[in-house]
Amino acid sequence: MKQFQDLEVWFFTGAQLLYGGDAVVKVDAHSNEMVKGLNASGNLPVKVVYKGTVNSSAEVSDAFRAANADTACIGVIAWMHTFSPAKMWIHGLMDYKKPLLHLHTQFDAQIPWDSIDMDYMNLNQSAHGDREFGHIVSRLRKNRKVVVGHWKDANVHSKIAVWMRVAAAWADAQTMRIIRFGDNMNNVAVTDGDKVEAEIRFGYHVDNAPIAKLVPYVNAVTDAEIDALVATYEELYDFAPDAAKGGANHRFVRDAAAQEIGLKRFLEDKGAKAFTTSFDELEGMNQLMGFASQRLMSEGYGFGAEGDWKTAALCRSMYVMGQGLAGGSSFLEDYVLNFDGQNSSILQSHMLEINPDIAVDKPRVEVHYLGIGDSGTCARLVFKTCEGQGIACTVVDMGNRFRMIVNEVEVIKSNPTPKLPVASALWIPKPNLEVGVGSWILAGGTHHSSFSFALTAEYMEDFADIADIEMLLIDEQTTLRSFKQELRNNEMYYLLNKALR
Ligand code: MN
Repeated sequence: MKQFQDLEVWFFTGAQLLYGGDAVVKVDAHSNEMVKGLNASGNLPVKVVYKGTVNSSAEVSDAFRAANADTACIGVIAWMHTFSPAKMWIHGLMDYKKPLLHLHTQFDAQIPWDSIDMDYMNLNQSAHGDREFGHIVSRLRKNRKVVVGHWKDANVHSKIAVWMRVAAAWADAQTMRIIRFGDNMNNVAVTDGDKVEAEIRFGYHVDNAPIAKLVPYVNAVTDAEIDALVATYEELYDFAPDAAKGGANHRFVRDAAAQEIGLKRFLEDKGAKAFTTSFDELEGMNQLMGFASQRLMSEGYGFGAEGDWKTAALCRSMYVMGQGLAGGSSFLEDYVLNFDGQNSSILQSHMLEINPDIAVDKPRVEVHYLGIGDSGTCARLVFKTCEGQGIACTVVDMGNRFRMIVNEVEVIKSNPTPKLPVASALWIPKPNLEVGVGSWILAGGTHHSSFSFALTAEYMEDFADIADIEMLLIDEQTTLRSFKQELRNNEMYYLLNKALR
């Protein structure tokens, strides 16, 4: 959870001075107690900091300006305890650049039937104060998450927690640098896109490094450093006999360890949180950095194969969101179909690069020749993944906008594949292979995806709202007919939306 420790979400309570200073004092006391309660619930990954009541346009503007400027602040929760006339929120909201959550709650869960009087009613006006606030946010066409429920309710905490994790990933994306070793694989369309628009829209910067710049980092790794890392591998993984110490192919594992150390140092020096590789651009390397990619994904680096920078960025963001939750995440690729009626599924794999965090058993270090491109003889971690519910996500560039596609999937048990020397998962896309994949293809989705056991579609919806991009969900409710209609509707929506802004 170390990513969340230094972060804050600010809490603003909307009020006004119409009811007199005493009312604001009570509003302030209630807000304090609520924020203390939220923090004490143990359900929120990021600390909530109460920033007081805002009672005028000038106070609102000052509060949001401060939130924009403070690097610890990743988002603002706003709540209207009393009626807070929304014209006073216009300038502040127009200036505000970070994620916004509107909490529609009330200090008391229930009406005190015997004691309620006009004073009580005037003080506890969230029911209409929050509608006034909602109006102006909608009037300004600003995306936000609206959470409705009592502030002590665990369901409310859960929705805030999801948004907080996404806001943390968003803040992370604003300083994300992605290093690409080599370009996108020649002629591949879906993994490419507009890097300038991506930086405007998502915040991350896509950079390039010739592999020749990485080679000295790998060559500089000492035998002692390799010994130490191989000892770590021996603790964590099983080894095929030829890959183990003394085996004929152990030297390839040592080379992979040098790649891991050198690659990590290079990324640290560049301040990069994600990277891509290419099996066609490996001059000076003796194997594709597959094992190193597996290991660095597990440490939180975003990864995309064959120059796929959009997936590398998404992998990193999904890692940040999922920190401390059960279930890992990984880069994956749709490989082979298995038609089997309602259980029809897709084998998910890649040439090497799958995150061992999602392994069901101890991964096994193996060394094999990989004939594709200049990959050479490569070490890799081989395993089957856990079973269970997860989400597969991608972002594609539609020319006039980015589109996120999310498919809920069920990872099922795979048969043994004794001759397949790579890690793999097997999943059934929801609602089934025919509709799930049919929808994905109609939406123009990639063969690469960023997968997570820890996250749900709610995270990606929050993320897409913050980024203000299109998001298409393929789940149990999806039908091909309604999905096609959604694609047509969205095409019109985004054309008009762009024209109107
Ligand atoms: Mn690929």
